Amino acid sequence: MNYCPNCGSQNLEFKIPDGDLHQRYVCANCHTVHYINPRIIVGCLPVYEDKIIICRRAIEPCHGMWNLPAGFMENGERAEDGALRELKEETGLDGQILKLHCIYSIPHVNQVYMIFLTRINSPDAVPGEESLEVRYFEEHEVPWGEIGFTSSVYAIEKFIEYKSSTGNKTYIGSFVLEGPETRKEFS
Ligand SMILES: [Zn+2]
Repeated sequence: MNYCPNCGSQNLEFKIPDGDLHQRYVCANCHTVHYINPRIIVGCLPVYEDKIIICRRAIEPCHGMWNLPAGFMENGERAEDGALRELKEETGLDGQILKLHCIYSIPHVNQVYMIFLTRINSPDAVPGEESLEVRYFEEHEVPWGEIGFTSSVYAIEKFIEYKSSTGNKTYIGSFVLEGPETRKEFS
C-alpha cells in the first residue's frame, strides 16, 4: 500500500495498532487502519447424472488447463449466489446447490475457496468467455494431470470419496507451504 485510500496521504506506517495482534497499514494523517484480509473464491462442483462438469481455462493463470468453475466473490453477494454466477459465466449452465462441498484454504496467497456441490439438469453447456471448453467427465475420465489448481483436485477427489460414503460431510482442506513445496491436507 503506497497511499491512504481514505485521504490520499502517502504518510502510512506499517505497525501493530493498539489492541491489535497483527501489523497493519495505518494512516498517520487521518489515522485510518487499513485491514487487508483473505479473499473468498466461490465455485461449484457441478454434477449432471453421474458426470462431473469441468471447464478448460481460456485465461491465465493455467491457460488451457482444466478447472472447476469458480471465481472471486463480489461485494454485496451471498456465497451461494456467487458460486452459481460463476457457474453461469463459465459454462452457461444453471444449477441447484445441494450442499457446501468443501472449504479449501491457501494461506500463503491469502485465499479461501468455498465449493458447492451443484446439480445440473442440462447436458448442454455453452463455454463462457473464460472457458475454451466445458466437458462432462465420467469419474474414470477426470484429467488429473491437467487440472490447474489444487483446489479443484481436492474438491474432485473428495467428491469421489463422498459418493462412496454414507455421510453428508463438508470437507476441510488446505494447501500449505512448509519449506520446500509441501502439500498438507486436512479432512
Ligand atoms: Zn488517511
